[in-house]
Amino acid sequence: KTYLPKEERYDKMPFRRCGNSGILLPQISLGLWHNFGHDADFKNARTILRSAFDFGITHFDLANNYGPPYGSAEENFGRIMQKDFSNLRDELIISTKAGWDMWPGPYGNHGSKKYLIASLDQSLKRMELDYVDIFYHHRPDPNTPMEETMAALDQIVRQGKALYVGISQYSAKETAKAVRILKNLGTPLLIHQPRYSMMDRWVEDGLLDVLEQEGVGAIAFSPLEQGILTDKYLKGIPEDSRIAKDGRYLKEDQVTEKVISKVKALNEIAQKRNQSMAQMAISWLLKDERITTVLVGVSKASQLADNVKATAKTKFSSEELEAIEKILKG
Ligand code: NDP
Repeated sequence: KTYLPKEERYDKMPFRRCGNSGILLPQISLGLWHNFGHDADFKNARTILRSAFDFGITHFDLANNYGPPYGSAEENFGRIMQKDFSNLRDELIISTKAGWDMWPGPYGNHGSKKYLIASLDQSLKRMELDYVDIFYHHRPDPNTPMEETMAALDQIVRQGKALYVGISQYSAKETAKAVRILKNLGTPLLIHQPRYSMMDRWVEDGLLDVLEQEGVGAIAFSPLEQGILTDKYLKGIPEDSRIAKDGRYLKEDQVTEKVISKVKALNEIAQKRNQSMAQMAISWLLKDERITTVLVGVSKASQLADNVKATAKTKFSSEELEAIEKILKG
């Protein structure tokens, strides 16, 4: 059936400016790491993307190797773009990345100009797009001069294959260096994509300060700790969970009794705030204005319906914050 996006799609979703750029991003963005490969249900993937856009989520995040198999999330996304979003391209911010293992041999991984330029060309073909909005270097490569990797990002923008560039997983120090190199090249760094959740706080130790100083946006990935920061594992491992279905990146032994007792205690605070656990985990990230957007994954559209409500309550009292800290440190 033809997809007609909801007319009220921009009414509820709040947007934040990405650093000091011209781009506004929705406070919740959608990532296609899981549930969009050839292993996934295509109809469900399509439903998730349609409902995301109906919720005002204008930003979809991909990478060359999302699947499995590698490339297949981009392929499926391309198919859905053709079917449902072909006349909506200018309402979307689409990103992809290169930096991890993608094809055999020395030119299909890491941070060389050779790899990045070729990878983006492949991604554009798979997605059937002329350009992406944001192209990222997916992780730092200590063996390639950063000048070369940043020159590749700059070249990609000059070729019109991406409008903006980003980096992911770079440390505070590496980020400061990347910012400097890109500035000199004339292609400012738009955004950094770090892992950030209540249970993974490394960005608070310098990275967010660098981003603020330099006017770079931040998009937090795995904000729900891949599902741990929701109520889904409170009573064991459900069959329809990432752990049971996939198990490559989230394993049963990560759901220890200690972790679950923390989530249970956090969930009580969430309930007092009239939020679901997932909502509170997202709101807690959005309380910091430096976080431009929170990048969630979902296996079904109903989870997205839950998550987007987090934007309605991003303020915390000092008592709530203290109680949360105590649980997390315990
Ligand atoms: P999350 O921490 O948001 O985990 C998503 C998973 O949590 C879902 O697939 C679902 O799992 C579960 N979930 C989500 N919402 C709910 C809910 N309301 N109630 C119950 N369970 C819920 O993020 P991801 O780890 O998926 O990462 C998000 C995105 O970040 C990726 O798609 C990707 O774009 C990006 N990313 C970037 C990386 C990088 O290196 N730059 C690395 C990793 C991710 P279930 O299947 O169990 O239902």
